[in-house]
Amino acid sequence: PLVLGIESSCDETSVGIVRGTELLANEVASSVELHARFGGVVPEVASRAHLEAMVPTLERALAKADTDLGEVDAIAVTAGPGLMGSLVVGLSAAKTLASVLKVPFYGLNHLVGHVAVDILDHGPLPTPVLALLVSGGHTQLLEVRDITGDIDEVGTTIDDAAGEAYDKVARLLGLEYPGGPVIDKAAQDGDPKAVAFPRGLTARHDMAKHRFDYSFSGLKTAVARYVERSERDGEPISVDDVAASFQEAVADVLTGKAVDACQELGIKHMVLGGGVAANSRLRTLMAERCEKAGVELRRPRPGLCTDNGAMIAVLGAQVIEAGRAPSSLEIPADSGMPVTQVIA
Ligand code: ATP
Ligand code: MG
Ligand code: FE
Repeated sequence: PLVLGIESSCDETSVGIVRGTELLANEVASSVELHARFGGVVPEVASRAHLEAMVPTLERALAKADTDLGEVDAIAVTAGPGLMGSLVVGLSAAKTLASVLKVPFYGLNHLVGHVAVDILDHGPLPTPVLALLVSGGHTQLLEVRDITGDIDEVGTTIDDAAGEAYDKVARLLGLEYPGGPVIDKAAQDGDPKAVAFPRGLTARHDMAKHRFDYSFSGLKTAVARYVERSERDGEPISVDDVAASFQEAVADVLTGKAVDACQELGIKHMVLGGGVAANSRLRTLMAERCEKAGVELRRPRPGLCTDNGAMIAVLGAQVIEAGRAPSSLEIPADSGMPVTQVIA
């Protein structure tokens, strides 16, 4: 089916168009520069930017896919989780399109979209597959038996998300927002062994209760202490070394627990998803450790890891092919939609 997907959960206004598992268009308009000086997304600003960008982005996507609205078989949209004022803009646009075009309407889970996007690069997901979802607001290990409706949470962060840690540490180091791409770049020139930062929830007593859970707030605090101490002692820090050492700590713990989970649960396949899945060190370290463990790894291209409409469109196509019932046009945005709920 030709599916048009709309994403507006945070600060990216995006429209993607797919035909089954084939990517036809994926236009993204980001309001990130408007938020940069605040060091994080300002909800009111994001909401207004979505309103302004929605129609032009839709038009660009249709042109790029060389199609028109009359050809579209279904409309898919992010129903949650995300910022309420941002979600409602995409949701209203999607409902309007679906009712005018008289095509089925699917309100879908943004997080599941992050996992599904790999289908555009590598075809249908094997089952079961362990998904490591690492984004700005979430960090979860998921056992996915069916991307259209059978997902279990195996582990989660007990405090900050991995992307959030990147953004906060970038701020501590005086780097710009969002922190992920800049820290990734700075780390290329740094020594990952320069500073021994903590690996959250890997101590024996933590493992008993939090075997597959993550924690990044202690790591963030350790970076803050390190920077403060260096300033007090008048010792200049190497931003590159701190970035590389921080990045190594994040990648080490993310990959370690994910591979352990595969082995313990007897899962032979892993897939990465979410903005932090674009991280170069996470991608290579995970590939190394998966290979050693005999786990087949799937990594979507970096450009598909951050928020985009194509991830929602391809999830929509999967849901349609599985024969799932469409959503009601009455559904509200669900800012706290749980990852176990694929369709609203
Ligand atoms: P959620 O999906 O949980 O609702 P979100 O949609 O805001 O949150 P994403 O767009 O999936 O998050 O990802 C954005 C996050 O990814 C930011 O925290 C950003 O710093 C991080 N990120 C992007 N590129 C990289 C990278 N190369 N390395 C590390 N982190 C990265
Ligand atoms: Mg964003
Ligand atoms: Fe996201």
